[in-house]
Amino acid sequence: MVNLKDLQLQELENFIKNLGEPKFRAKQIFRWMYQDCGSGAEARPGGVTAFSQMTNVPKSLREKLSECADLGILTPLQVQISRMDGTRKYLFGLEDGNAIESVFMKYKYGNSICVSSQAGCRMGCKFCASGMDGLRRNLTPGEIIGQILAAEKDTGEKIRHVVVMGTGEPFDNYQNLSAFLRLLHDPDGLNLSWRNVTVSTCGIVPGIRDFAEDFPQVNLAISLHAPNDQIRSSMMPVSRAYPMDQLLDACRDYTKKTSRRITFEYTLVNGVNDQMIHARELAERLRGMLCHVNLIPLNAVKESGMHTTSRKDVQQFQAFLEKKGVPATIRRELGDDIDGACGQLRLNQCRKGGKEQKEF
Ligand code: SAH
Repeated sequence: MVNLKDLQLQELENFIKNLGEPKFRAKQIFRWMYQDCGSGAEARPGGVTAFSQMTNVPKSLREKLSECADLGILTPLQVQISRMDGTRKYLFGLEDGNAIESVFMKYKYGNSICVSSQAGCRMGCKFCASGMDGLRRNLTPGEIIGQILAAEKDTGEKIRHVVVMGTGEPFDNYQNLSAFLRLLHDPDGLNLSWRNVTVSTCGIVPGIRDFAEDFPQVNLAISLHAPNDQIRSSMMPVSRAYPMDQLLDACRDYTKKTSRRITFEYTLVNGVNDQMIHARELAERLRGMLCHVNLIPLNAVKESGMHTTSRKDVQQFQAFLEKKGVPATIRRELGDDIDGACGQLRLNQCRKGGKEQKEF
């Protein structure tokens, strides 16, 4: 079975031609998957969920398709809905029994989703729940875009902004990430502006260099989390492969090439990287760069033994950076009441190994 959402429009055209059907059918099918979604009361975004709903495609072709292909529809195993702000956390089950998480968020400027790029992760950041059981496998382009369509279907609302900040390291799955981004941007696909998309990496330098070439209009966020290699290596093993000098050089080249501002994510961990000397060192290293720092209070994962920084100290850290000329914001916490740190829904699911359904 081929997941048709793994194919670009051109690849779908070849697929349809190989079935002995005219090429123009591919565009009709493609649009049903991403755009046309019925009319009247049935008009919900997120594309159709069955070949039978593709009403302008001949029945004979629909039957042929259902024998060799599917639409890669993701169904939630769990949905947690925040009563405070409408944030929804999804746990989706994949065909092979793996599970992945996505988070739907409502902002004043429109709906946004945080998607996963891998089932698990092999980067091993000490504070992160997503990597605790290692990498299971890469997600396919269709499995990444499927998260967006499933959330649109579930909420009945269009999603305008996408961040690749869920489970996984996107630059450890570069090829599938690229195919996913092209599906997002395709005018016959989800037709999203590049500017509304952000990819976050733990700092894989060759990935940053390729990304600057391939997707100069997509926003880039770097998980920095420390002002020097010593602290960074204690939190993030990737830092040993790509030390900060190399990383920041790649970031400078990125901004030179794209003229785009980089976001540095900085998760504050009590006593590890949140002191004033750390703020000072960070400001010195980032001074003059086209960047902005997003401070994230640690979402404490029990297994890590690390603790979060007090609100007051977070604000002090921010004020210091700003004073030194480095723009800094504090990440707004959404869905506080459904909590569980990023990746925890999935971790619990993996460890239980079961498929228990839960209502919230
Ligand atoms: N692998 C990519 C994207 C996934 S993580 C990356 O590293 O950027 C998305 C962001 O959440 C990263 O900045 C990550 O370091 C941060 N993060 C992970 N676990 C966290 C936790 N428990 N508390 C706060 N931030 C966390």
